[in-house]
Amino acid sequence: MKKLALVLGLVSVLFAMVGRSVWADDCSLSVEAGDTLAYNLTSMSAPASCESVTVTLTHTGKMAANVMGHNWVLAKDADVNGVSMDGLTAGAGAGYLKADDSRILAATGLIGGGETSSVTFSTAGMAGGAMTFFCTFPGHSYVMKGKFSIE
Ligand code: ZN
Repeated sequence: MKKLALVLGLVSVLFAMVGRSVWADDCSLSVEAGDTLAYNLTSMSAPASCESVTVTLTHTGKMAANVMGHNWVLAKDADVNGVSMDGLTAGAGAGYLKADDSRILAATGLIGGGETSSVTFSTAGMAGGAMTFFCTFPGHSYVMKGKFSIE
């Protein structure tokens, strides 16, 4: 009985290790932005083994969303300017995102200091693609962006 318990124990430890590396942590990404036009990361990636990815944006600053709002928006490199320009036209009430914009691959809410917003999206078709994450608050996307990849 003692031997069986030991084997079961080892198996459960192995499962815990595999589960942690493949499913849990790698598919959940965190990124921060404060009262400046910058994320704390310039690149983000997740393994292709993730069927979906969750990105959590935390605004670590103190300024309100209407003054220094941030979101985390994902698009193909070629669509960044178009999504930003149309977001500007959509305005603050729309969170600076055009409704039903198929170029937007994922987007969190627009948040202010002390707030957090998450988005979960499917990675289908993303592997190997050249993508950029950026903030659509007016004027931010020119400097507030980074590379995103599924590899
Ligand atoms: Zn911003």
